[in-house]
Amino acid sequence: MDLDLASARVASQVMARLLSPDFEDWSNAVARVGSCANPIHLTGSSMRVDASTGEVLSTYSSDTEPLGTTLIRCGNRRASECPSCSRVYAADMFHLIKAGVAGGKGVPKRVGENPLVFATVTAPSFGHVHGMRDNGRRCRPHAKTPRCEHGRSTTCHQKHDDGDELLGQPLCWECYDYASHIVWQWWAPELWRRFNIAIKRTLAHRLRVKESRLKHLASVQYSKVAEYQRRGLIHFHALVRLDGAKADEPFAAAPDGVTAELLAEVVEEAVRSVRFTAPPVFAGDVPRVLTFGAQVDSRPVKVGHRTDDPAGPLNAEQVAGYLAKYSTKSATDTTTGEQSNSHLSRIQAVAAEFATLVEDEWVADRMLCALKELPYGLLGKWHTALGFRGHFATKSRRYSVTLGALRRARRRAQVLIADPQRTGIPVDLASMEAQLLADDEDETTLVVGSWSFVGTGWDTEGDVALARAAAARAREYAQHRAGQKRAKASDETRRDDQ
Ligand SMILES: [Zn+2]
Ligand SMILES: [Zn+2]
Ligand SMILES: [Zn+2]
Repeated sequence: MDLDLASARVASQVMARLLSPDFEDWSNAVARVGSCANPIHLTGSSMRVDASTGEVLSTYSSDTEPLGTTLIRCGNRRASECPSCSRVYAADMFHLIKAGVAGGKGVPKRVGENPLVFATVTAPSFGHVHGMRDNGRRCRPHAKTPRCEHGRSTTCHQKHDDGDELLGQPLCWECYDYASHIVWQWWAPELWRRFNIAIKRTLAHRLRVKESRLKHLASVQYSKVAEYQRRGLIHFHALVRLDGAKADEPFAAAPDGVTAELLAEVVEEAVRSVRFTAPPVFAGDVPRVLTFGAQVDSRPVKVGHRTDDPAGPLNAEQVAGYLAKYSTKSATDTTTGEQSNSHLSRIQAVAAEFATLVEDEWVADRMLCALKELPYGLLGKWHTALGFRGHFATKSRRYSVTLGALRRARRRAQVLIADPQRTGIPVDLASMEAQLLADDEDETTLVVGSWSFVGTGWDTEGDVALARAAAARAREYAQHRAGQKRAKASDETRRDDQ
């Protein structure tokens, strides 16, 4: 077992658990909660009732559980917090994103015919940082002056490898504009909002219609994920799709003549047009005009049976997998190296300092009755997230299915599997997906229960280590099985080809 035994104490806790008389009960409980690292404990009972007849279909009580409490997954999105739950989240994200690209989960397949673009939108530069360059080029071989005013070199002739501690660190921390860095990060969600407005304006212009008329012609749908770069700034990865008018059926065909290539141009133009003047953070500070970074990558995605560019580098599975993976990362994942990261620590320190300045100002000016009414009022709360207060994964309403629908489907699947065991009537596979993804109103059974919260987590760090090891093992097994499946599938295609 690949245990990370951080200390002798944890090691002895693990031993104690392995040798405890109730180890089997305990490991069953771990398995039932999918090896969640920080489960929620509840006590109580519930019953499932047929909504039309009132028949009690089943009852359940926490007393029947091996540990005496009912465990529920923590549901944490972040891989560093709970590897198991973050994988469930990533899988849901994958299906959600893929459905919006190629259909499925109740989204019609024809959505794959609509123009689709994969865009990466970056932050601007706030100072030179060490980085990996394309084609193995050197980090920063040329500069106007050899040294900055602090006497540090303005060039770097190294070719940095992945894992190099210098990556993302500024060449001179005193030259680096930490204040603007934090202000930009703080307003990144506002820049994204403005991008959404800009894309409609740009599109209307390209299609030669009035902006107010655009909604009768087309609608822009997207899903996006925020990812931290090494320099501690987020960038957005987004799938942007063009559908027909919203008033028509959902996922309607895009207006004639709009290609993915044209949409890619529109996205890029819109990104470049975004401007926002951020108010000063504290008295004596300056307003800043914020934009996205000059580096905008906007590429058409080929899906469905379109054959216009078979060499297109992106397909539905790839982009969905890519976005799903980034949706489980967070600021702390960029900082969890063995060494402390001085650049990221400085960002946090400056953000924390700003927060106190903002608060002082608030105390000085009683006219502002609530802290949150100040533009930077809650900066202190977000300094561990390096000042980013947005959501990590978001989507427009009609992009595809919702996470809620997918979670509900999972709950229903458990019931659908339990029902045939109870009644002896086999599951109707043909109608299964429709049943799983139906809206709430179609729910035919009610769950009535009363529960109280007991606590969260496992008893010891040793227990957590064991649960995490079990999650890692489950993942290896799943990957192994997926590999076997792929190998089998390619064997079959090879046989078919012969
Ligand atoms: Zn969990
Ligand atoms: Zn360098
Ligand atoms: Zn300097």
